[in-house]
Amino acid sequence: MAYKISDECIMCGACEAECPVSAISAADDKYAIDADSCLDCGACAGVCPVGAPQAE
Ligand code: SF4
Ligand code: SF4
Repeated sequence: MAYKISDECIMCGACEAECPVSAISAADDKYAIDADSCLDCGACAGVCPVGAPQAE
């Protein structure tokens, strides 16, 4: 299981600083989560202003 960032992402960057394992980085048109690193903690979803990170 891993979180995934939807197209709702406005690239604010808030989630990147919140991830305990640095699984989030900026991609071309939105931020992306490395599924192999993600611990499914939900911290990114908690800080996102648009609810883009969602549990798979
Ligand atoms: Fe990082 Fe947790 Fe979000 Fe996974 S769920 S990307 S570990 S903050
Ligand atoms: Fe995108 Fe939400 Fe992360 Fe901001 S906090 S970069 S809107 S996923």
